[in-house]
Amino acid sequence: MEFRDLRRQYQVIKTDIDKAINKAVNGTHFIMGEDVKQLEMELAEYVGVKRCISCANGTDALQLALMAWNIGAGDAVFVPDFTFFSSGEVVAAVGATPIFVNVDKDTYNISPADLKEKVKIVLKEGKLIPKVVIAVDLFGLPADYVAIGKIAKEYNLFVLEDGAQGFGGSFLGKRACSFGDISTTSFFPAKPLGCYGDGGAIFTDNEEWAEMMCSYRVHGKGKDKYDNVRIGMNSRLDTLQAAILRVKLKQFIEYELSSVQERAEWYNQALGNNVKTPTVSAGYVSSYAQYTICFSKKEQREKAVEVCKEAGIPTAIYYSKPMHLQGAFANMECDVQKNLYTQELCDCVLALPFHPYLTMDEIKKISSVINNI
Ligand SMILES: *Cc1c(COP(=O)(O)O)cnc(C)c1O
Repeated sequence: MEFRDLRRQYQVIKTDIDKAINKAVNGTHFIMGEDVKQLEMELAEYVGVKRCISCANGTDALQLALMAWNIGAGDAVFVPDFTFFSSGEVVAAVGATPIFVNVDKDTYNISPADLKEKVKIVLKEGKLIPKVVIAVDLFGLPADYVAIGKIAKEYNLFVLEDGAQGFGGSFLGKRACSFGDISTTSFFPAKPLGCYGDGGAIFTDNEEWAEMMCSYRVHGKGKDKYDNVRIGMNSRLDTLQAAILRVKLKQFIEYELSSVQERAEWYNQALGNNVKTPTVSAGYVSSYAQYTICFSKKEQREKAVEVCKEAGIPTAIYYSKPMHLQGAFANMECDVQKNLYTQELCDCVLALPFHPYLTMDEIKKISSVINNI
């Protein structure tokens, strides 16, 4: 059994993928080819924003957004304490200070109440200027952008949606990657929409920021890439990956997104009340980057890892360490960063095998192993 079965997925669309790869290779326009432009248009239309700028990966996408806003030393950027390292890494990479915020007990997304609390503490200390909140759509579920938006407005913060795991999700019909002033996603193979290598994209309605990010992604180009007007990066999406993504986007829209809804429901029913299953509040659609359950005790989670391993069921722990305890952030002394609840989550969560091609038999087998604990 695979945790995320990319081979099964490839088998289903092999003919179209092989054709697209062949065409891209024969076209030999490997960098910024036609497929890149087409993909950007298709993604912008699907998400419902004016501009999509593809780039090399989801981490660069976040960093390019911070660069477009000129975020740097002396700026505070609020980041959930329970997320993948990138969400905080990019903040430090541009010289700003990440402030780690507690997450909601049910959705595991950034807690608006604690966000407000942490902004107030930073203001009171007076050393940093609050500039940005990075809200992550963790495990595929959009964050609470209504509440976050209110706080952002009150304190004059930019909202950066880290939709690396959120692509395809929605709230009241509005799609993920359209909730931020700038939003980003990742096409890492295991994400809801993955390519066959690294890839990422940025979304915004703001033309000025879009142009800025187009420049930053190609060495801070001016009128062309040999006219360099700012210090940028080399962060383009390959034509080959764009060609693959155009085929996979269709498959994602046509049936994968509904397929994961159905499979999440199968799990929910099979697991019943034995463990905490993912919370998806009314109006929200999760794209289920992960199907994560939560035990009430650390010992149960440890037992589950062991028993699943014996039964040949792969599992994963996202995440085993709160951001504020990561060694890379160790010297950023700031006692507003203690989030006890995150530690509890890190001890008790477990991601089960999940993808659009999982069978009901597989889900039954996995669930019965979990239910026996
Ligand atoms: C995967 C991920 C990223 C980074 O994406 P890459 O394409 O791997 O650089 C950023 N944020 C979150 C929440 C992620 O899960």
